[in-house]
Amino acid sequence: MIKEKGATRCKQRIKKCDCLKRDDDDVAFDVAKKRDFYSMTRLSERLVRLRGLFPKPTRFLALVSLSYLLHLCKFLARFLLSQILPAMDNLFSDYFSDDFDSSPYRPHRRFLQDQDHHRDRDFAALERLYLLPYTWWLEAENEGDRGDAVLYTVSCNSDSDSEILLHLRKEEEPHNNIGVSARQYALVPEGLWLRALKRYNDFNNAVKDFGSIPYEEESLPDLFPLQVKIFVSWETSSLVAKISQKENVADFYDKACDIFNSTYNPVHIWDFSGQTTQFFLNDKSRLPNDSPGQLGKEVVLELQVHGLPDSVGGNGGNEMILDRSQTECSHSGSVIMNGSTDNVIPCISATNHFRGSSCRAIQSLGLTGLQNLGNTCFMNSAIQCLAHTPKLVDFFLGDYCKEINYENPLGMNGELALAFGDLLRKLWVPGAAPIAPRTFKMKLANFAPQFSGYSQHDSQELLAFLLDGLHEDLNRVKRKPYHEVKDADGRPDEEVAEEYWRNHLARNDSIVVDLCQGQFRSTLVCPICKKVSITFDPFMYLSLPLPSTTIRTMTLTVISTDGITSPSTITVTVPESGTLKDLIGALSTSCSLRDDETLLVAEIYRNKIFRVFEDPSDLLVEIRDQDKLVAYRMQKCNEPSPLVVFLHERLAENFGKERFENRLFGIPLVTRWSSISCGYDDVQKEFLKLINPFLMRTEDVLHEYDKNDGVNKRVSEDDELGDATNSAAIGNDADSNSGTEDGIHSSTAFEFYLQGIERAKIIVKKPLPQVTTLPGKLPVVVVLWSDKMLKMYDTYLLDSLPEVFKPQLFAKRMQESVSIYKCLEAFLKEEPLGPEDMWYCPHCKEPQQAYKKLDLWRLPEILVVHLKRFSYSRYFKNKLETFVDFPINDLDLSTYVAHGNSQSSNRYVLYAISCHYGGLGGGHYTAFVRYGYDKWYDFDDSRVESVSEDMIKTPAAYVLFYRKI
Ligand SMILES: [Zn+2]
Repeated sequence: MIKEKGATRCKQRIKKCDCLKRDDDDVAFDVAKKRDFYSMTRLSERLVRLRGLFPKPTRFLALVSLSYLLHLCKFLARFLLSQILPAMDNLFSDYFSDDFDSSPYRPHRRFLQDQDHHRDRDFAALERLYLLPYTWWLEAENEGDRGDAVLYTVSCNSDSDSEILLHLRKEEEPHNNIGVSARQYALVPEGLWLRALKRYNDFNNAVKDFGSIPYEEESLPDLFPLQVKIFVSWETSSLVAKISQKENVADFYDKACDIFNSTYNPVHIWDFSGQTTQFFLNDKSRLPNDSPGQLGKEVVLELQVHGLPDSVGGNGGNEMILDRSQTECSHSGSVIMNGSTDNVIPCISATNHFRGSSCRAIQSLGLTGLQNLGNTCFMNSAIQCLAHTPKLVDFFLGDYCKEINYENPLGMNGELALAFGDLLRKLWVPGAAPIAPRTFKMKLANFAPQFSGYSQHDSQELLAFLLDGLHEDLNRVKRKPYHEVKDADGRPDEEVAEEYWRNHLARNDSIVVDLCQGQFRSTLVCPICKKVSITFDPFMYLSLPLPSTTIRTMTLTVISTDGITSPSTITVTVPESGTLKDLIGALSTSCSLRDDETLLVAEIYRNKIFRVFEDPSDLLVEIRDQDKLVAYRMQKCNEPSPLVVFLHERLAENFGKERFENRLFGIPLVTRWSSISCGYDDVQKEFLKLINPFLMRTEDVLHEYDKNDGVNKRVSEDDELGDATNSAAIGNDADSNSGTEDGIHSSTAFEFYLQGIERAKIIVKKPLPQVTTLPGKLPVVVVLWSDKMLKMYDTYLLDSLPEVFKPQLFAKRMQESVSIYKCLEAFLKEEPLGPEDMWYCPHCKEPQQAYKKLDLWRLPEILVVHLKRFSYSRYFKNKLETFVDFPINDLDLSTYVAHGNSQSSNRYVLYAISCHYGGLGGGHYTAFVRYGYDKWYDFDDSRVESVSEDMIKTPAAYVLFYRKI
């Protein structure tokens, strides 16, 4: 349902984009046709028109100078001429749909950024600028993140009512010149503004969660666009800003007047963006071409002015603005989520919508959905978890570009980091509509072709790839030094671990390492010489197995070989992902197996042993519910003696051919070769013992055979005395009769044939014939039953063999809950290495199946826990639906950390879950994300909804995200 809806929305969007694209194609065609210089002018006109397509008030306004526009035209022309049109088409559709979804804002900038970001660093200057109250900015930003600022004193001299003229004079010694009463503003790029806004939001949420301030009374930010023309006045060495009434909405122009009117108090602007400086530089470089004394070229600067209450600063005019915005906010009322596209109409009626969106924005900050582009929910789920990872978000909202490593051959030229950062910013823009992450997906597919196309993938795989890719793109290490790993040599663990970590950091140093990487201690012990080797390897996430997961009930027939006990049907419960060892363990308990006994589990098919399960590590998933299994309860044997199978055969009419032939029936019985090795007597004795429990016990049968067969008569009489003496009786009987009544037996009772590749009759007083069997097959004695014998024994009992599991209507398999700590224990427990990854023991000088033990050593700030729900065995792929019980507010890993010192915390709180619903191949991914202190949201593609905390623990939990407390 959800997916379908998403798809329709997608289509609508594509339609919307089509009309835009056509316009672009026109542009493209024109340029391609004319191919002359003048087309650039045309193009710029078109571009201006294109910008017009976006409703003005909702546009986030960029600093776009004329020189950039020219630059842009040149670039576009160059680009268009060198590209084929279809490729073009693609690019534009991507570019526009992205923009449309990320909402209203920003046309040209991104196109350039995507294409040329790192080749032309100038484009950093194209970031949108925001004018904020300085004190608000100080409170919201960490000191370390603020960076340097240039201070300007603003003097305003308005000669006319229709224009404000501001002179921005740079203060050389910023700290001495500001009075207390001064009104101060900060000029910051978009990322920093978003980050500050997010922090402000987090803080408000936290405050609200503790209940001290009712949210409605919170003052909300009011944001309005302002078009400013800026030029450098070389005469006064100042920047001149012109705000004209006719270029701005009347309301906003009035607000600007209120802010910049410096009659009473001086206005100061701190530029944190570094762009005004660049402005001077750019202009200077052009200067030689201009006649001296002339004013610098005018540049259009479009500002977002952020009118928070702090901006009041005792100015009556601003208070009025504030009042107005608050009134409007209270009117807008309810919180509207981004998930509902209906609410995000590109607005036509300017002011109202803009204020409306900015009011609601602060409340839904970061609650932006991601459109499903066709089975991309796995990606959306992973992105939302990362997009709400503390510090990682701050990093990408800040000036992360300076950390991009363009040279790293293991990286992706910074493109993955840029695409991710761009996407993250879109998700955090206030009031953003659900975003179609097309550009990001495209970049991803470029570097990881496994994620291209539109089929379902694993969100964990994507996370692993993404974290690794981001790490390489952001690796601060430009040249990786090589360090030889020194042997621990009995040095203390702390020292060795520290050395490993230093070596790791010397090669890998990024925000991803800072946040997500921890360290294992891995101990290998050689089983032969007991040599111990300890290493300390980094990890980015924990991949935990799910031990003792879903329970499976299995029904087997236990057949004793003691000649006393009747076969019994036993049902045991075993872990669905368990092994033969688990099954045998459960059976042993269930039938009270003695120490001197053992169980042999075999699958029976068409009255033969089809398969013997021997390897204790054989997986139970390979046994199907409709299989029929027998467990033979046998005496343990000191000397190894091969097994022999008795198969039952009878003459049966072959319908259609009107003749009799031998046909198998009943459950095969099993004994050891040593019990029959002496020939016919042994064979008969052993067989009679084995089938003794199947003897008929009714009076009728007793009487019928009373006179005919001594052996059976005796047995039957004994039978009346009770089971306990029965076996002894037949044993003695067989013994005492051997040699005297053999003839009678062989003719009237059973015939035995030793079956290898050929069939040879076992004859009295002759040694057993030689038998050769096919490899992997047990030697077989075929027993031909006479009619008489068939009537004496309960062949129904001998034939009845239930299936492993008979599904019943409404019978659901039992669910077992397993604690995350149990999963962790299973992950850390000592295990022998598999034969395929043997360890080369430096002491024995040969590969050994060493024992490996993992311990947690260094815990990361962000702990990503992957629950291994998908298992792949030789024959089956399987998803485990186990309910894993994990703590939400206090995951304590103290007992699993081998590290002695407890300086750092080992406790975590959950902040996001990537969920998978449904089976293999298909299925659907969503994410739960913590918001504020105790609120949770369900991110289901473009839909974002609030959920209560007790809803988030489900068997769908797949990847858990914890942060240290
Ligand atoms: Zn060794």
